[in-house]
Amino acid sequence: MHDPFGRRISYLRVSVTDRCDLRCVYCMAEDMTFLPKAELLTLEELDRLCGTFIGLGVERIRLTGGEPLVRKNVISLFRSLGARIGEGGLKELTVTTNGTQLTKMADDLFAAGVRRINVSLDTLDPAAFSAVTRWGKIDQTLDGIFAAKAAGLAVKINAVALKGVNEHEYDRMIAWCGEHGFDLTLIETMPMGEIGGDRTDQYLPLSLVRERIAENWTLVPSPHRTGGPARYFDIAETGRRLGLITPMTHNFCEACNRVRLTCTGTLYMCLGQSDAADLRAPLRDPSVGDEALRDAVRAAIARKPRGHDFVIGRDSRPAVARHMSVTGG
Ligand code: SAM
Ligand code: SF4
Repeated sequence: MHDPFGRRISYLRVSVTDRCDLRCVYCMAEDMTFLPKAELLTLEELDRLCGTFIGLGVERIRLTGGEPLVRKNVISLFRSLGARIGEGGLKELTVTTNGTQLTKMADDLFAAGVRRINVSLDTLDPAAFSAVTRWGKIDQTLDGIFAAKAAGLAVKINAVALKGVNEHEYDRMIAWCGEHGFDLTLIETMPMGEIGGDRTDQYLPLSLVRERIAENWTLVPSPHRTGGPARYFDIAETGRRLGLITPMTHNFCEACNRVRLTCTGTLYMCLGQSDAADLRAPLRDPSVGDEALRDAVRAAIARKPRGHDFVIGRDSRPAVARHMSVTGG
């Protein structure tokens, strides 16, 4: 499956819920209104739609959210998708999570076929963690991270770079990740959704962060690529990888291999654009068979734009009205 710019679409990110047990300041407002449950695709519908994408050549699926692991019985979706790994056409099933449910779920995720997970952890400081997540307790996430490691899952830590919040902690986080065998990716804030505050206060360019990190660590540029917005370095002192996701300062669109499905069956062809295709209507229409559903997906991919145009300016309105929790990043 190729888009009009010749990019092969092999990666699907699926937001399985817009709900979350945390309220990270850069992601959500404190009083979010979530979708009525009836609007959501059932887990069976999500499985069928994922199967359609796999049939069209998608090789990697990442479940995200909101917080994917708070959706009731979501493990059944992991199991049905995990069963498609290998002969079924899927090469990898992964998840991005805030870690709060991992002490309960890490073993089940591994048993379902998941081998790598991304866990969001913006700071190692308990007070700063509670301030950033508004409702979170760091021990719950740290316990989850170590449960994942014990279950055999490779862990990558994702941290959003936040001015005045975690900007003095990167050396400590690199050392901590090195000690425990985790890779680390730092993410620039993206202007998505109303959050009840001014984003220019939070924005910290990673070009600056990289210079500061390079004062204490040897960063060797890595050829590793995922078709996403991250650029990677090997940290010589720890042997772990550092990823920098810089949508605001680096144009990554030319190698984009991904599309994003929301929990209501809306397909976004670009994280930074509003154009979307509704796949729920054809999915629920009994007269639409598997081939017509594939056609609906192909027609959506044919609309994938060349790239995004995020800007964080003095105008405090978000560049994209929907929250990151809709498409899961
Ligand atoms: N709840 C899960 C988690 O936190 O990992 C999965 C969903 S969350 C929306 C996915 C990723 O997007 C997280 O790493 C989060 O830090 C990041 N994120 C959320 N809002 C963002 C924003 N406005 N700019 C940059 N990254 C953001
Ligand atoms: Fe929830 Fe993840 Fe958004 Fe934080 S970043 S509020 S954990 S969805």
